[in-house]
Amino acid sequence: MEAVMVRYGEIFLKSEPVKRRFISIMTGNISLALEAEGLAHRIETPRGRVLISGDEPRRIAAVTARAFGVVSASVCTVTTADIEGIAAAAVEHAERRLRPGMSFAVRARRSGVAGFNSQELAAAVGAAVLDRIPEARVDLTAPDYEVFVEAREFGGLVYDEKIAGPGGLPYGTQDEVMALLSAGIDSPVASWLMMRRGCLMVHVHMKSGRFGGADEEKNVLQNHARLSRWVPGHPLDLLVVDMEPFFEVITALKEPRYRCILCKRFMLRVAGILAGERGAYALVNGDNLGQVASQTLANMVVIAPATSVPVLRPLIGFDKEEVVDRARAIGTFEAHPGSIGCTVAPRYPSTAAPAATIAQIEEKIGVASLAERAAGTVRRFRAKNGVVEEVR
Ligand code: ATP
Ligand code: MG
Repeated sequence: MEAVMVRYGEIFLKSEPVKRRFISIMTGNISLALEAEGLAHRIETPRGRVLISGDEPRRIAAVTARAFGVVSASVCTVTTADIEGIAAAAVEHAERRLRPGMSFAVRARRSGVAGFNSQELAAAVGAAVLDRIPEARVDLTAPDYEVFVEAREFGGLVYDEKIAGPGGLPYGTQDEVMALLSAGIDSPVASWLMMRRGCLMVHVHMKSGRFGGADEEKNVLQNHARLSRWVPGHPLDLLVVDMEPFFEVITALKEPRYRCILCKRFMLRVAGILAGERGAYALVNGDNLGQVASQTLANMVVIAPATSVPVLRPLIGFDKEEVVDRARAIGTFEAHPGSIGCTVAPRYPSTAAPAATIAQIEEKIGVASLAERAAGTVRRFRAKNGVVEEVR
């Protein structure tokens, strides 16, 4: 019989009750993901081990290895918890992938089983493999092939492949945050990183309308849809706010170089209102120190107080290359995003706007009521398993 074994990382360090709760949230998420793929399955958690059985273990492993909290997943042969049963399965695995001339190692673990220790188990399995494939040789430091064997009270497990998962904490083990999602590259990665940390997510997008590129909304919805694929079975909301009236006001001002600061402050202000309405604990954005004028330290310090809701910036210390690599791995990278540029941004934006000047401008334009009005324009889109629909 085959089953999928799931490994988790940090959850392991939690106290027993917390660990139980996190594992149950993780297995619930895995179940939703498998259901979304139409994969019948059964999940058991003997002694903190997560084992999933079903008719299609390979597909189950691939789906499972995308769940947050999962460090890796392996398709295992489940045997009896004795040396003979384990060795026979290990030989079968080795026969498929260990070629004559290759080196190999047996990695053994044992707990709750009497009669042999893990070294004895490894030695016996190694001997059985050599017996069948005498042209192979043992190399414990840099083997070409590794076979993993475990003797547990509930049975033996044998596997030789690990599919890497995203790690992190199971989705929903932390409270809700609201990520500012754009049509760009950074913000989807920022959102993903917070979801991977277990935060329930809601997205908010500030629509530029005629001040933005023609492909902005399409790309945002695409980012949103793609991110929802990481939390299959969970609804993921996107709130879209109309920024056009605000842009009309700030483009009429005679001083263009503070526009980006005013814009970013406005976004935070509106998002802060919406987060308050929902009870989201924090905002998340894709700010990255020094990336553009609005992300110099001096400007970030002026922008941040626009809301009293804490702003999390998971990408603050990343290099662009790292963000792009992440975006590719997550599946949100778009090499040809089309027209998503902002036409409001000035040619020479201020890299250190004086807070007092900004406060005066905001006072003059009546920013508080503009923000309240913008927060009232929200359209809501809901994504599930990669499909987005507007909620009316
Ligand atoms: P990204 O940073 O996602 O590639 P961008 O480069 O267009 O998009 P920046 O000017 O770097 O955006 O803005 C910094 C952050 O502000 C973004 O990462 C995102 O969190 C937020 N943001 C920018 N534009 C919008 C928008 N139209 N709606 C919502 N959030 C936005
Ligand atoms: Mg950016």
